[in-house]
Amino acid sequence: MSTATLTPRPQTEVSTPPRPKQPRHFDFNRITDEQFLEAAEHMHLDEEVRQLLLTPYRELIVQVPVRMDDGKLSMFHGFRVQHNGVRGPYKGGLRFHHQVDLGEVRSLAALMTWKTALVDIPFGGAKGGITCDPSKMSRAELQALTRGFTQKIDMALGVYRDIPAPDMNTNAQVMAWIMDEYGKKHGYTPAIVTGKPISLGGSLGREEATGRGTMIITREACKAFGVTLRGAAVAIQGFGNVGSWAARLLAREGARIVAVSDVHGGICSPEGLDIDAVTLHVKESGSVVDMPGTRAIDNDEILMLPVDVLIPAALGGVIHEDNAGDVRAKLVVEAGNSPVTPEADRVLRQRKARIVPDILVNAGGVTVSYFEWVQNLQQFRWSLEEVNTRLEERMMAAWRHVYEVHQTQKLPLRVAAYVVALERVSEATRQRY
Ligand code: GLU
Repeated sequence: MSTATLTPRPQTEVSTPPRPKQPRHFDFNRITDEQFLEAAEHMHLDEEVRQLLLTPYRELIVQVPVRMDDGKLSMFHGFRVQHNGVRGPYKGGLRFHHQVDLGEVRSLAALMTWKTALVDIPFGGAKGGITCDPSKMSRAELQALTRGFTQKIDMALGVYRDIPAPDMNTNAQVMAWIMDEYGKKHGYTPAIVTGKPISLGGSLGREEATGRGTMIITREACKAFGVTLRGAAVAIQGFGNVGSWAARLLAREGARIVAVSDVHGGICSPEGLDIDAVTLHVKESGSVVDMPGTRAIDNDEILMLPVDVLIPAALGGVIHEDNAGDVRAKLVVEAGNSPVTPEADRVLRQRKARIVPDILVNAGGVTVSYFEWVQNLQQFRWSLEEVNTRLEERMMAAWRHVYEVHQTQKLPLRVAAYVVALERVSEATRQRY
């Protein structure tokens, strides 16, 4: 997250950021609803459970006024959607992005319900978002925004009710502010958020957990579909927390990371990038672009490279009907949420490319969030080795289950993953109603 100095603001008394808009060129809800319904059809899921799972339990839309550094008041809009809680407290990240809207948060909340069910952790699904551009805000402004949002949704949070975590453009620092703000009213409550700094009760291994889970699933998918990971060409769109950790850990497994990109652009090197050097370059310059000894590519080109594994680890909807035909990767591993639209999914299926779905690939983050929550409740810290061993076990169990359903029921991996998750959620639903 940027703590860049303040950029000039409009000279009005109250500067108002764009109001929450409804869907952009693609519709997040349509993506997750279609994916859900394909699996629901296959399972002959009854209409009552279907309706229950298609609609969220609770949606909060809040106004968060923030006195900016220049003395002016800016009005932000924040969202928290609790999709389903039949298997445990609502759980999911909080994202800061200028395009965040209710539809996106609603859809991502549903994905969290399937994700927590798939890795069989006792949580439901939720998501939060604030429509803002963190790259244009100072640290003090972001802190005020986070604290204001926490106050507004306080009544819906709770250690056994709803537990936020980091997501796009939020990090351990933002979680620390939430915990601190929540604690003012409720007393010391580390288990109210996960992904905290280690010094405040965060878990060892949480920061790299989503990237580590991505590495584990990529490794297994390669084994299953005849790709030798050692020397395999891998392209990764997105070099934030998830993309950069996935790159580092896959490189350690012997993969050749031939291209990476971020919001500013991408870099490519057929012999394989030195990920530690790229990370250092990002630290110094703020971006992967202009890394010496590499060729520049853009964020569309990176999706078209003739690689073994393509890992979209950034925004949703980046592979759509207009560019899916140009994707040449054998395996598409969805480290980001909803990077492939249903139309693109169909094109890729026809081409026999394998898509490893988001709810499986990026479930490592919420899995270690669960470990963090457990450690906080027990007031006991696990070693990094214990965290990583348990993460490996959970991810492998989920992979084996999905792969078995994929093979025995002849289903694409995404539908198989939904079937596994939906069985757990629908069973718990039936027993409650
Ligand atoms: N934001 C992450 C996700 O989409 C992690 C959520 C969590 O740890 O609760 O899975």
